[in-house]
Parts: sequence; C-alpha cells; structure tokens
Amino acid sequence: MNLEILLLAGDGIGVEVTREAEKVLRHVAEAFGHSLSVSRGLLGGAAIHRHGDPFPEETRKLALEADATLLGAVGLPEFDNAPPEKRPERGLLGIRKALGVYANLRPVECYRALLACSPLKNELVEGADLLIVRELTGGLYYGAPRGISGSGAEERGVNTMTYTRAEIERIAHMAFQLAQKRRKKVTSVDKSNVLETSQLWRRVVTEVSAQYNDVSLDHMLVDNCAMQLVMNPKRFDVVVTENMFGDILSDEAAVLAGSIGMLPSASLGGKRESGAWTGLYEPVHGSAPDIAGQNKANPLGAIGSVGAMLQYSFGLVEEARAVSRAIEEVLISGRVTADLRPSGPPATTSEVGDAVCAALAVRAASA
Ligand code: NAD
Repeated sequence: MNLEILLLAGDGIGVEVTREAEKVLRHVAEAFGHSLSVSRGLLGGAAIHRHGDPFPEETRKLALEADATLLGAVGLPEFDNAPPEKRPERGLLGIRKALGVYANLRPVECYRALLACSPLKNELVEGADLLIVRELTGGLYYGAPRGISGSGAEERGVNTMTYTRAEIERIAHMAFQLAQKRRKKVTSVDKSNVLETSQLWRRVVTEVSAQYNDVSLDHMLVDNCAMQLVMNPKRFDVVVTENMFGDILSDEAAVLAGSIGMLPSASLGGKRESGAWTGLYEPVHGSAPDIAGQNKANPLGAIGSVGAMLQYSFGLVEEARAVSRAIEEVLISGRVTADLRPSGPPATTSEVGDAVCAALAVRAASA
C-alpha cells in the first residue's frame, strides 16, 4: 500500500513528538512492505510566523490531498493575548473544519506497567478501557453568534451552543458502530436538565440507538460523568458527547492513563471510496511550552496516533497492533520519560522513539 501522509509538527513539543512518530511510521512501513510519501506543512504558531495565518492556504491544500494527516500540537505563549483569528489554536479549528472531521476518538487504556503512575487507586484504574467519542465540528466552539462587544459594565461576551439533528445523528451512529467492535455499551453524556441542545441530543441519540439492538445505551449528566470517570472508570465502554464536554472529560480521563503524554487521538470525517476514514491524528496533549525544546516530552501519545492512523485511515489492523504492542513493551522495560516517573533516570523523547522502533524490529525479525 502507498501511504500519503501530511506531517504538521506544529509548535513546542509537537515538533519533538512528531519526529519520533515519523520514525515509527517509517519503521512500520518498511517492516510491513508499504511505501510512504511524506509531505510537510505549517500549522499554528509556526504558520503565523511564516505566513501570518495559523492555517495557511498551502496547508489546507496539502491536507485535502493527503490520505491522512499527523499533527503534533499547536500553541505558543507569545500569542496568548493575540486576537482569536491570530492565535495558533485557530489553525486547529480551521483544519478540523476543512477536513470535515466531526468525530474525535480518544481511547483511554490503562497499561498495567503504568498503574502506579495514576494518582488514583490501582484497583479503580486496573482494567479500565474506554473510548471517548467527542463531537468535533459543532457546539459551543463553532456556534454563532460569538464575540465580545460593548464597553464598561455592558461589555458582553457571547458564545452559542447549537446542534442540528443531522450533526447528532452522525456522531451517534459512529459511537454505536465503534461500540459494536468493543464491549457493546454506549454512554451518552449531556446536560439535559438545563440545556435545550442537550434535550435534543438525548432524544436523537435514543432514536438512533433503535438501529443498534446489540448495543446498550445509557444517558448520564456531564457533572455526574466527571465524577464517575474517577470513581468508577471501568463502568464505561464508549462515551459519546458534544464538543466542549468531550474536551474537558477527555483531559480528566488522562489521569487514568498515568500521563496526558500517553494519549493518542483520531479525528474522523467521511468515508473514502476505499472504505477508510478521512482522518487527522494527533496526541491529546498541547505544545507544553514548559518542557519544549528539552527532549523531555513523552512521544507515546503521538506514536499511538500513528497506530490509530494505520487502523482507521488505512485499515492496517495488524500494523496498528504491532505499534500498540511495541508501546507496551517499552513501558514494561521502564525506559520512559519523566512524566511517567521511572524508577531510574528518565529516558529522553528520542530514546523512547528509538526503543519503540527497536521493539518493532525485534517483533518483525521473529515473525
Ligand atoms: P499541555 O497539554 O501543553 O500541557 C499540560 C501539562 O502537561 C504541562 O505541564 C506539560 O509539560 C505536560 N505535558 C503535556 N504533554 C506532555 C508530554 N507529551 N510529555 C510530558 N509532559 C507533557 O496543555 P497547556 O499547558 O494547557 O497548553 C499549552 C499550549 O498548548 C496552549 O497554547 C494550548 O492552547 C495548547 N494546546 C494545544 C492543543 C492541541 O494542539 N491539540 C491541545 C491542548 C492545548
């Protein structure tokens, strides 16, 4: 297979972790006999520096042409007080919209080797394995009207949370179909005791569930879900929710995995003729300015995102499994970055990337 990938390293540790992810991708392609064409583009702060635009036209064109896009992270402190359209994060919203990737999948798996890294009790975390399906192109982050107007005591900020039936239906179908391949349980999270958008959300998800008799559905208010995620995470299989709730809950769920640096994500849109998904893949974490440029960042979330890309955009399930097993072997070996609190001296970002490649090479040789 020929894999045409766009790499957007972005800002801060995005550059460091995508370097390792690319190494792993090249290893997998070679080991499994695929050819790889990699193009590179700018997004976020790096794109503002070069083009004055967080999502330049050139990047849009490259993303639309590629089979799949792998992104590091965006965000630079120097833009913290810039107007919204000149902030790196606008680039993220722009590329998600341009690719039409409406579903963000955030798997949270608790590796045995990392149990001690979670601040939660081992018995709560061990065996937890959930998938958060976050709606990505609607809701409060995109709704209009939005903005800040007026002055003095009348100065007002406005954002709008809005969802159409069609937007809710497509994300609900995605959640049920993903649950069919897992433990067949969907929890839909909303705030229907207060918000009309949530009342519609709950009604439409319930209607869609009638088409999936093999999957059970329950509904949960977002405040209760925030509590259950840390009190009883094993009760969840697939969690489907709107954009902002999903943003917050998935960061909370990161504590289960031991570090935010561990978590991959896949943002999926429509299906291509081949049956594979249009996809944007990125670790869940941000650009981490506090550790950027120090070769300290954990690259496993970015490397896990390569696995997700192989699985969803190319249907290469065996290759995706190989990446996941290699990550697990590295965790067991203890050669991990400082965020995972190793017993010995921490490994650097590039050492962890090399260790994953070495684990892949050993498996390929013994296959
Ligand atoms: P962050 O995820 O960048 O960092 C939060 C904390 O986690 C920091 O202490 C950081 O050092 C640590 N951390 C994050 N990733 C790590 C990794 N791979 N290895 C080890 N430690 C890691 O979140 P933040 O500090 O709130 O945001 C920093 C910038 O990133 C902001 O500009 C924000 O807007 C942006 N951001 C971007 C994305 C994205 O590109 N998808 C997501 C979140 C935040």
